[in-house]
Amino acid sequence: MNTDVITHVAEAPVSFLRPALWKAPEYSGSQADLDAKAAMLAQRLAQIAATHVKPRFATSLAAEDMVLTDLIVKANLPIAVFTLETGRLPQATLDLLEQVEAHYAAAYAGRDLKIDRFAPRAEDVGNYVSSYGANAFYDSVEHRKLCCQIRKVEPLARALTGADAWLTGQRQEQAVTRANLSFAERDDARGGIAKYNPLLDWTEAEVWAYLRRHGVPVNALYAQGYASIGCDPCTRAIKQGEDARAGRWWWESAEKKECGLHEANLNGAKAAVQA
Ligand code: SF4
Repeated sequence: MNTDVITHVAEAPVSFLRPALWKAPEYSGSQADLDAKAAMLAQRLAQIAATHVKPRFATSLAAEDMVLTDLIVKANLPIAVFTLETGRLPQATLDLLEQVEAHYAAAYAGRDLKIDRFAPRAEDVGNYVSSYGANAFYDSVEHRKLCCQIRKVEPLARALTGADAWLTGQRQEQAVTRANLSFAERDDARGGIAKYNPLLDWTEAEVWAYLRRHGVPVNALYAQGYASIGCDPCTRAIKQGEDARAGRWWWESAEKKECGLHEANLNGAKAAVQA
């Protein structure tokens, strides 16, 4: 037996055995550039609010969504904010939901943030669990998409009932499925209403620089190596250098990683609308 090898491994530093996890990036640009980009983003949001009667913003409380939330509240824009409470969210996300409302209530009395929660229908969840099992999303893309349909897509349709536009925090550099995002799209899956991605041209470093500069609350899981956060059983920490969405549905190929909320990202079926 070659004991030299065993001795070498036993004495190896912990950092050698454990790969470094993802960390929120540092920003190397100027403060003036960041402020200018934030001002342009605020203009985009104001333009959307002025163009539509009932615009709604879907937040998952991701870092990107917190940038948009902060600007919407500070400008007191008439954009309703909602989230999809899937029933499988991490406790850290549920905690942040309460924390965010308390944060803005304390900081901006009179324009408190109220995030409406939309949950899946209990009957649909019950049927899925009894037919396939609670964690059948690991078995196949088909079962994963059905779970997302029940817990996300159907509640989203209810959340957008009566809306004439919705907003997301998607960015182009997040994933191969998002590289061709437009600022404005027509969402044919939801009756042809407008869909906006106002943060499309922001980098991850710019997002984190904004959050730090403005003291915006963020999900505690980011500090544990999570670069993108969704439902608890479908999200995990990633290593430094991995694709930002590598921790989402990691058992599937990158080209399939959308949950049905942004299905047009997969088939490229986008149609520009008047911005
Ligand atoms: S992310 Fe996972 S748990 Fe959440 S709805 Fe989709 S398949 Fe279900």
